[in-house]
Amino acid sequence: MEVVIIIDMLKEFVAGKLKTERAMRIVPNIKRLIQSARDHGVPIIYTNDAHLPVDFELTKWGKHAMKGTKGAEVIPQLKPTTGDYVLEKRTYSGFFETGLDPLLRKLRVDTIVLTGLYADVCLQHTAADAFFRGYQIVVPKDATEAASEQELQQGLRYVKKMYDAEITETDTIVKRWTKA
Ligand code: ZN
Repeated sequence: MEVVIIIDMLKEFVAGKLKTERAMRIVPNIKRLIQSARDHGVPIIYTNDAHLPVDFELTKWGKHAMKGTKGAEVIPQLKPTTGDYVLEKRTYSGFFETGLDPLLRKLRVDTIVLTGLYADVCLQHTAADAFFRGYQIVVPKDATEAASEQELQQGLRYVKKMYDAEITETDTIVKRWTKA
């Protein structure tokens, strides 16, 4: 079983204090993946920053995506719907004290498709934790972004090299689901 994980496609990272102008480029691709996942019964999991004022990470990045604020909301184009899983996280990895691992086990997931922001920060750390737990990792490279092309490539290269992530494209995944 595969799942799609959508990382930090929040107002804060797309249009707020920690935004990258490059984020908008991946929105249509993630949207397509979500649509296809829904059509083919592939679960969708959001892992969203939702910080408390005491979080250690804020000393590095400043206040961002604070729990309950607009910045911590998923952008309207990719809004979760009934049946999606929405997990809150308080640092980079989607696995860190979020309950993601037991959820994946319950869903009998062996492969995770990672999308969202940033390729070299939260996506990379989520990939690390997925690898440590034995999950196969797929990254559609047109559905993740970073602050620069160099950082994007750096993140993709790292997850491929260290965690054997399959670096592919949205189209390929959608076609695979359609055929299955
Ligand atoms: Zn954060």
